[in-house]
Amino acid sequence: MKSNHRKITLVSILTASFFLSFSQTKDQLKETAAYSFEKYKQIHQYPELGKREFKTSELIKKELQTIGFTEFYEVPNLPTCIITGIDSKLEGTTIAFRAELDARPGKESTGLEYASKIDSTNHSCGHDAHASILLGTAKLIYSLKNKLKGKIYFIFQPAEETKGGADDIVNSGILNTLKIENIFALHSTSGLPVGKVNISPGYIMAGSNYFTIEIEGKESHAATPYVGSNIPVLTGKVIELITSIPSLKMDVSTRPCVISVTYVESGKTNAANIIPSTSVIKGTIRAYESVDSPFQNQPSIRNIISKEVEQLCLAQNAASKIEITKGSPPTINNNLLFDTTIPNLSKLFSGTIDTSPYRGMFSEDFSYYTENIPCLYFGLGIAKDKLGFANVHSNDFSVHPDTFIYGIELFCDIAMHK
Ligand SMILES: [Zn+2]
Ligand SMILES: [Zn+2]
Repeated sequence: MKSNHRKITLVSILTASFFLSFSQTKDQLKETAAYSFEKYKQIHQYPELGKREFKTSELIKKELQTIGFTEFYEVPNLPTCIITGIDSKLEGTTIAFRAELDARPGKESTGLEYASKIDSTNHSCGHDAHASILLGTAKLIYSLKNKLKGKIYFIFQPAEETKGGADDIVNSGILNTLKIENIFALHSTSGLPVGKVNISPGYIMAGSNYFTIEIEGKESHAATPYVGSNIPVLTGKVIELITSIPSLKMDVSTRPCVISVTYVESGKTNAANIIPSTSVIKGTIRAYESVDSPFQNQPSIRNIISKEVEQLCLAQNAASKIEITKGSPPTINNNLLFDTTIPNLSKLFSGTIDTSPYRGMFSEDFSYYTENIPCLYFGLGIAKDKLGFANVHSNDFSVHPDTFIYGIELFCDIAMHK
């Protein structure tokens, strides 16, 4: 893949025509975007998994210190988390911007000259772009701090892709200590053109839950499946049943839900003559409701799954054990904050803000903040030329260099006009 290097330059950023909402910062914004893109390339080449973002975190802290930030707030058991801020000493709201730091497992296949130098890890969710945009935002806002009101915090959060991260930060109480009133974040959106941002009010992403189903029955010789529980066949039926539950047992028009199986295990290698007695099925449930809450007199998702799976297994003389653990709650864009922020922001922002209604079944740990504090989460356009079209979490995921100026401008428009 190395022979297919693509040269990325900043020519398009530097020649971009920009109409800034705050005067005399046009050149500064371009310079900051170039700085941000340089930091992105550095972070991108050395991706680190959740809670192990030591080099990334060190680079960002050093840059923030060079900019002039002196006060950093620690989160217990989250050493790679960086929180810093600017206090204008003038009356005004206290807001925070959040970016993630962690990469994902997988070998990058973009062929870019600044591709991951770590074979097993790559930034396939764009968190390096978000962190670099936030770093650029912090740099630009710091230089404009005399024009600021209230306080602004910058949260560089570890471990979005794994457990802990946003929930650790929320549970630490730091957001209350700092009296943060609103939090804003953005996320790379594959295929969305550079310069375009999308945001809609209310529920935008589902909550996640994870399940494990253990099935146990009677083993038999492969020649006589009728004397045992025929666990592999039963397992197939259970998979068909649970993945059909949202459409067959729930009204998906009012209860959006997706149940997907991601792992199946049964039998022993080379045991061609034995039908095994056990199997394990794992997967995820994405829904906007709690799996434990009944919905308008209808049973909860947990109850539906338990009852249906148990009945099916019993009919084949097998027992089932179901465990469902909760992941992130649904992500909510606060309606009032949307109404007070977006109309003005749409006038200031030099790109386009699309407010078409959106709901997805993905989940995001930004939801832990949205559960506690009015927040807004933006989708940021990253696609231009041949970059930014591959899906997030794919090994050929990329971000176009012209993205950075729009990300920084969006955050600065919010910060300077809140
Ligand atoms: Zn991701
Ligand atoms: Zn992500």
